[in-house]
Amino acid sequence: MPPFSRRQFLQTSLIGLAALASVAAGPEVSLQAPTVFNVRPAVPALALTFDDGYVNVARLLDAARKAEVRLTLFPVGQLLDRRPEVWQRAVAEGHEIGCHTYTHRALGGQPVETVRAELEQFCTAAHKQLGLEAVRLFRPPYGSGWSAPAVQQAAAEFGMTVVMWNRVSPGRQASRPSEVVQALQQSARAGDIVLYHFQAAEVAAFPRLVEHGRAQGWHVGTVGELLAAGG
Ligand SMILES: [Zn+2]
Repeated sequence: MPPFSRRQFLQTSLIGLAALASVAAGPEVSLQAPTVFNVRPAVPALALTFDDGYVNVARLLDAARKAEVRLTLFPVGQLLDRRPEVWQRAVAEGHEIGCHTYTHRALGGQPVETVRAELEQFCTAAHKQLGLEAVRLFRPPYGSGWSAPAVQQAAAEFGMTVVMWNRVSPGRQASRPSEVVQALQQSARAGDIVLYHFQAAEVAAFPRLVEHGRAQGWHVGTVGELLAAGG
């Protein structure tokens, strides 16, 4: 058991108090969803996660198949309805699908009803198009509102863990694959959750990202696997 800092202790205490308050006051008071940024103490695993899925999905799936890696993907729900085949392929090939809302709405400041509707619509699409009975992971678009009571409440109601990240790729449109690889080589630690966006440079860099993780002796896999390894 690692020693708690005073701040962590205070935060934990406050969460405990909030939980007690919710029991006392009934369902109006918000629930807390499990929320992760990485796994500490570190486990020898690395989760490469990909958000949105507007472009390059099949290319990434090709690369993942070749490297024999399973990934956690957070597609925008609308895209499941728009291009179900490629996401069905992702599921068939063992990738984990998390919720990224239906419309990619920023959830900070939104009422709980709006958050619920986004999660509900996503789950409906995931069930209809992919046959998924349950979606257990949730990443708020832009990370917006991840700690807001409305977001925490809705995620908890849907049985979802809020999955943030502790490393972010520099792989926006203008970057080169080498920059994406270097960023991981310079910063990644065991137990990290890294955020990517299906950008061309990220997909091109993908085999080298996997190689780097494996060269450290880490399992490169899904968030679910990382969390399971962390106990
Ligand atoms: Zn997004």
